[in-house]
Amino acid sequence: MDENIFAQLKMADATVLDAAEEKVDCSNCGRRRRYFCYACRNYVNGLEKVMPTVKLPIKIIIIKHRQELDSKSTAIHAALLAPDDCQIYTFPNIPACHPEKDLVIFPSKDSMTVDEWAKRVAVAKLAADVTISKQGYAAGHSGHVIFIDSTWNQIHPIINSPQLSALPKIALKNYETQFWRPNGSRRDASCLATIEAVYYFLREYHSIYLGLEYKGEYDNLLMIFKYMYLKIRDYHDGGDYLKAYKT
Ligand SMILES: [Zn+2]
Repeated sequence: MDENIFAQLKMADATVLDAAEEKVDCSNCGRRRRYFCYACRNYVNGLEKVMPTVKLPIKIIIIKHRQELDSKSTAIHAALLAPDDCQIYTFPNIPACHPEKDLVIFPSKDSMTVDEWAKRVAVAKLAADVTISKQGYAAGHSGHVIFIDSTWNQIHPIINSPQLSALPKIALKNYETQFWRPNGSRRDASCLATIEAVYYFLREYHSIYLGLEYKGEYDNLLMIFKYMYLKIRDYHDGGDYLKAYKT
């Protein structure tokens, strides 16, 4: 495992999470939680007062499979850290989607890269005689970007659902996950945790679609992820046999 990736990020001090020393009752559902309640999607132990909020340049929707354990999902990190721009739905409860402007992040043979998507939008705007800003491909995209938070086995009913099947698909560049794995296997190293996929998509969107220099604007999205990663690594002293964390 290589934690150097975290050292390069412009991130708020995650040790504020250390203030949550014990589990307390979630103010909404009463269940015992330490950092946040993954059922209610709120912080506990007063962490909402000290955690940063990240403003996203595009609205995102995360669709979870109902069998995906909430306690192992990193989707909630996005909902906690970018509450104004991220919504989570549990399949089959999916919102209506719009193929002309919404996209789904999903690798397949008909997926576009972010670069191809940006060029396609630019061509369409030229054809429609819409002025493109010098900064890049206009001021931003008005649709939603949809992420699927599930195992590979559960993903097909979601991607083939009537709402998502007609959406253009985007494939990210290749990245290596830092997600803690039960067996230290590198086999799935390219299979990103949901919060990593959100983060890397936003970086590509920022630099390629918006044409802006990336200055760490979304690094705080990985704040809880990094904190849990370091905690689990320290606990397991080396990290080859990591289990997904529990809050
Ligand atoms: Zn709760």
